[in-house]
Amino acid sequence: MRVRQLYDAVSSTYTYLVADPTTGEAVYIDTVFEQHLRDRALLAELGLRLVAVLDTHCHADHVTGAWLLQQFTGCRYGVSRRYGEALSCADMPLDDGDVVAFGRSALIARATPGHTDGCITYVAADETVAFTGDALLIRGAGRCDFQQGNAHTLYQSIKTRIFALPDACIVYPGHDYNGRTASTIGEERAHNPRIGGQADERDFVGFMENLNLPHPKLIDHAVPANLRCGRPEDGRVPELADWGPVRQTYAGVLEIEPEWVAQNLARVQVLDVRQRMEQQASGVIPGSCMIPLEELRRRLADVPRDRPIVAVCHAGMRSAQATTLLRAAGIQACANLRGGVLLWSDLRLPLEQV
Ligand code: FE
Repeated sequence: MRVRQLYDAVSSTYTYLVADPTTGEAVYIDTVFEQHLRDRALLAELGLRLVAVLDTHCHADHVTGAWLLQQFTGCRYGVSRRYGEALSCADMPLDDGDVVAFGRSALIARATPGHTDGCITYVAADETVAFTGDALLIRGAGRCDFQQGNAHTLYQSIKTRIFALPDACIVYPGHDYNGRTASTIGEERAHNPRIGGQADERDFVGFMENLNLPHPKLIDHAVPANLRCGRPEDGRVPELADWGPVRQTYAGVLEIEPEWVAQNLARVQVLDVRQRMEQQASGVIPGSCMIPLEELRRRLADVPRDRPIVAVCHAGMRSAQATTLLRAAGIQACANLRGGVLLWSDLRLPLEQV
């Protein structure tokens, strides 16, 4: 089982991509709506097939990316059955002990209520890794003062269900506000200041009931959206660009496919940022505007602005830099030609001599 930890800086949320190395099947845990382009790009670049997107609970601080990922991958959405009818859009309601299988790997749902009613810890079948959501955090535990939270219940969940795991089991939490990424069961059992060491239920409940945390800013927006599985109210998938099928890579580059560009050459402006010698050697895409990358910054005024810009170079690296430069200059309608002239000519798309 391979685990990749991703981070959303706005909500301090950790998202986990968990993949089976033998089959390439994968699940996502605790996705964030605004990060779906990143999450989709990583799946595509690693060649993984998403089987399911899971949430550890109905979040109050961010909107899940579950619905969006379902739209693009057809995966299932798993979350606790405890939310009942309120979360009927989830097509994989999970009970304690349910197994989520992907390839030869599996996660087992372990009910750990207390932060909310429906909190689940996802435990690897071999108990080497546990995704604890907001039940057990690194040197902390999820607040219990809203969404049917109950500190007594959380105490029991952590003590009897999470601390029952082996000492060496890695703890991957749902959040961390101090940059810590992972812990272990043994470490938390010894050092967690709320529930570790000799702490008993009175200690834990007393601590949790006196946290005096501010009301979560996003709760009134996030909870209703999460009860729709993260589907926007208008049911529309946000588009990256209105002029063409632009994608975002995991590196954050906006890219477009050569076949689409070849079929829509009249609707875009190709900007070739290679050196003159390269253009002469391999030819150029018909209608290209030619400005070498090193001149682009001072020649921004020469870039035609009546059509969206598709930047191109030899293999797509310098042109990616060009799109960053164009966007910084306020030209939002632009994308990088995937694979550059190299892929373009491999696909036998038209080039002309200069
Ligand atoms: Fe939470």
